[in-house]
This record gives sequence, structure tokens and C-alpha cells, in this order.
Amino acid sequence: MANRGRRGGSAGGRLWVLALLAAVAVAIGFVAGHLTRDLGYRRTAPPLPRRSAGPTLAEQVETLVGPLDAAGTRVPVADRGAARHLLSRLERLARENPRRLQVDASPEERSRLRVRLTVGSDSYPAEIVWPEEAAPGPGGGATGARLALVIDDLGADAGLARDFLDLEVPVTPAVLPYLAHSLDVAHLARGRGREFLLHVPMEPQEGRRANPGKGALLSSMSEAEVRAGLEEALSSVPGAAGVNNHMGSRLTELSDRMTWVMDELRQKDLYFLDSVTSPRTVASTAARAAGIGWARRDVFLDNEQDVQTVGRQLDQAMQKARRNGSAIAIGHPHRGTLEALRLWIPKFRAAGVEIVPLGGLIQRPTG
Ligand SMILES: [Zn+2]
Repeated sequence: MANRGRRGGSAGGRLWVLALLAAVAVAIGFVAGHLTRDLGYRRTAPPLPRRSAGPTLAEQVETLVGPLDAAGTRVPVADRGAARHLLSRLERLARENPRRLQVDASPEERSRLRVRLTVGSDSYPAEIVWPEEAAPGPGGGATGARLALVIDDLGADAGLARDFLDLEVPVTPAVLPYLAHSLDVAHLARGRGREFLLHVPMEPQEGRRANPGKGALLSSMSEAEVRAGLEEALSSVPGAAGVNNHMGSRLTELSDRMTWVMDELRQKDLYFLDSVTSPRTVASTAARAAGIGWARRDVFLDNEQDVQTVGRQLDQAMQKARRNGSAIAIGHPHRGTLEALRLWIPKFRAAGVEIVPLGGLIQRPTG
């Protein structure tokens, strides 16, 4: 009995050891799976593109129209003007890459533009679409007041950016370069068919003592440094439709600096929104002189961030839009701003003010 008991006991012990080994093996597999998934995630997380390597031609096309698909790509834009602008950027890229990229556009339709993109030996159909009612008539006849809501300073928090992008109205995100989630916010915007701005840090007046952040354009920089700094910031978050200034109350007063900036933007076919952080800004004058699309901010929404104050600023922006036909307001990723926008969406509708992407309110150079 004692022997059998011991034998039984040792058989049971072996079973326990086997079970323990099996459990350890499963645990190791589990941990290893997670580990490789984490490593894999880190590998596939988009690295900051290096200027030396440069994006492939297909990637350059994709930053303009989104993922290429042999079954067809749909590219929603604000209006007919924005569609033509996008087509001109594609055609420019084709001219820069003869024989490697071909862009064949069909005649423009009522609310879409069909384009065949041939990259190397692969061919992709795409259609650029816009809402019919947003197309301005031949007399420039705006049917109603239009208001663009730009949300600056995005890139630190992807979740908060998503909350703004998920609003029922198409806010226009402005992404700071070199932040942890700059690229994520750009991808979120792209995934929703939204254009986004690169929010370029520029030197403020000394008295403000604020640090404009990494990649800031400074008055002490040479022309080559300003141009290189801007180009690097743009290539760190590819696909922006335009640029606006973060801070910059000093730099935007300097005509030569602004001329360099606008000339760089002209070469890249980007527009400029003057955030107007100084009453003496010459940024939009320089943009107009350079022959690029431009606009000026009318209202800041959230210098104070409680819902009621932001709401009053939204009322003011709506009044300006009704008085002048359009207006541009800039807000920031604050909870109070988000909440006020949610509450004001029905008021925009009631007031007959249409919220449009910024691209729809850009003054385009003629000819
Ligand atoms: Zn800013």
C-alpha cells in the first residue's frame, strides 16, 4: 500500500511536472508573441522620412490622393477649386517624373474629376469628388455664408485629434512637425478624406518668451537655413495641402523671411494661411506677391478656454461669415473648444452658416 501509494504519488508528481512544463511553454509562447508583435509594431510605425532617402514616386502620389488601389481610389475634396488644384499638383509631379508617372484626366464633370494614374507599369483609376452645392457659380455666386474651423497645434495627442476630426463638421487640422503623433494625425485626416495643414513654428516676439518648438524658423537664420528648415518640416509630415504659422509674431513681420517661405511653398504648390499672431504681419502680402494661394485668420476661438467664451467667439465668427460671405476661425486642442464646437453645430445650421474645409476659402492666384 505504502509502495503503491508512493508509486502512485511519483506518477502524479511526473504529471504535475509535465503540466507545469506545458504551462511554462504556453507562457513563453504568449510573452514571445507579444514581444514580437511589439517589435513588429515598432518596426512598422512610420519613421520620420529621411531627406536623403526620399519617398518613392508611388508614395509621393499616395500623399496626394491616399492609398492607390487598382480597383479605384476616391479622393473627396472641398470644392471644384480644390479638385483642380490637386490635379495640377499631380500633373506637376508627372512633369517632374517623365516616363515614370502619367496623369490622364477625363473632362471635368459636375462634381467629379476622373483621373488615370500610371505609376511605372501599374495603372490606377482615381476620382476626385466634391459636394455639388459647394461649387461656386460662374459669377462667384456664394449661396451662403461659409466658415472654416482650423484646429492648430495638433500632434501631441492622437485621441484628442480624433475627437475633433470625428465632429459632424469638417474641421481642418493643422499639425505641428516632430511631435510624437504628428504622422498619426496626418494619417487620421487622410483616412477621412480631409486636407491638413503643416503648422510651422516661427519665432515670436522676444517679450512672449515662449518656445516655438522643434524646427522653428528664426530671424537669425540664413536664407538657406530657412528654406532647408521648412523643407525638412514639410517632408517630416508629407501630404499637407498648405501651411500656417505657429506663433511667429516676430518672423511674420519680416518681409524678406516671408518671401523665402512663400517661394518655398510656391515650389511645392502649397497655400499659406496667415494665423495673424502680429498686427503687423506681412505673411499674406508675401504669399500674394509670390503668386500662391493664401488666406488670413479672422477669429481666435479659445484664448480663454471655457465653453461659454469659446461659444461667444464662435458667434463672432458666424457673424463675420454672414457679413463677409466667409470667415476663418482658429482653435486649439482644448476640451472646452471641443465641447463648444459640439454644442454650436446646430447653431451653425440654424444660422445658415456652412462649415467648410479651409481649402474652399483660399484665395487662389488667377491665371
Ligand atoms: Zn500654434
